[in-house]
Amino acid sequence: MMTQADHLERVQVFAATQLAPAVTGWAHGEGPSQALWHAAGDLGLFGIELPLEAGGLGFDFAHKTSVCATLAAVDFGYAMAVVNTHNVALRLHLSAPDLAARHLPRLLSGEVAACTALTEPEAGTDVAALQTRATQTPRGWEITGRKDWIINARHAGLSIVFAKCGTGDDAGAIGAFMVDLTIPGVTRHATEAGFSQASMGTGGFCLDAVALPPEALILPPGAAFGAILSEINGARAYVAAMCCAMLRAAVAEYGQRRVSFRRPLMDHQAWRLTLAQAQTDLAATEALTERAVASIAGAPAAQLLAAQAKVHAVQTCQRHLPALLHAMGAEGLRPAHCLTRHLAAVQSAALTDGAITPLLERVARLSWPTPRQRKD
Ligand SMILES: Cc1cc2nc3c(=O)[nH]c(=O)nc-3n(C[C@H](O)[C@H](O)[C@H](O)COP(=O)(O)OP(=O)(O)OC[C@H]3O[C@@H](n4cnc5c(N)ncnc54)[C@H](O)[C@@H]3O)c2cc1C
Repeated sequence: MMTQADHLERVQVFAATQLAPAVTGWAHGEGPSQALWHAAGDLGLFGIELPLEAGGLGFDFAHKTSVCATLAAVDFGYAMAVVNTHNVALRLHLSAPDLAARHLPRLLSGEVAACTALTEPEAGTDVAALQTRATQTPRGWEITGRKDWIINARHAGLSIVFAKCGTGDDAGAIGAFMVDLTIPGVTRHATEAGFSQASMGTGGFCLDAVALPPEALILPPGAAFGAILSEINGARAYVAAMCCAMLRAAVAEYGQRRVSFRRPLMDHQAWRLTLAQAQTDLAATEALTERAVASIAGAPAAQLLAAQAKVHAVQTCQRHLPALLHAMGAEGLRPAHCLTRHLAAVQSAALTDGAITPLLERVARLSWPTPRQRKD
């Protein structure tokens, strides 16, 4: 039987031999090939946390995080595309066994990608402000709205869509629906942005009175918002680990090879301080991230640790990646190196699964709750 360590080794080989040679064009708008998507399926990456009897690998959250970090060291976008499909497969397995039986084979093999759609043009951090509306009909549900900035939405076949049900207008009215993005009434668009979004497949879609069967409601109002809040802690922890992996990859060995004033760059004391500072801060953020990842299994401090780890990892990357890029000279700008790709990716990491400022606000609330917050 394959152990987690064996599996991680296979993922490392895949990242080095198949992923790394493919990524150069992704900075210029190309996306991963279908073959790379299937290769991820062959490695079981869409079912890491699903049990063996459901077609998954039966591994734990910490292992999923290590896989995400291994992929992100090469390309954050590809790693996010993979883990977002994985998370939809897991949610189907946990909440909708009938739909899981129908969709899991194609999700786990990599034939179909999937996304989770909360964000809308007018609702980002303030999730409760989302306006997508689901109305009950004699045959199920009718859903109308617009989603944007959704990983995988350019090419996904399935999406978990969060919408307000009936006439309710607060967070308690939010339910989660499984939507087949290939059915009539769905139109898709790519989200274009200065920073490359291609490997993440970032996009959006409009739902125009899309008819859904009753079983499409996989998390009813009342349960859906709570599910978002608990899942998002895990996402923050693995995004932190992915940031650590990007920074580790960027602490390059370039300084050993490049000669300046007849000595390797690494022999210039002022030059190597840049690396030493990055290495030191990386060690601190890795330690915090490890604590956050370990807490996801159920420790009461998970919310606080996950928020702190994400903030710290993103800010450490934002501080050091530009310095490391500079330390490579002009060579660092080439797409063959990871620096510019990771620099752009970190700006995306700062927003996905909770932007930095509201996360700091959360850290403050959890650290010093007011008497009213304590009662809530
Ligand atoms: C690359 C990428 C991929 C994404 N993938 C997905 C996805 O798969 N699914 C999905 O649903 N969403 C996704 N998102 C959306 C992401 O979750 C949102 O960008 C994020 O929630 C922030 O929302 P916003 O961009 O609308 O910013 P806003 O909410 O408009 O905030 C703008 C700025 O104001 C700050 N701010 C907002 N509210 C407060 C407050 N109360 N206190 C202090 N500061 C505040 C924020 O920190 C931010 O800097 C993705 C985003 C990106 C960039």
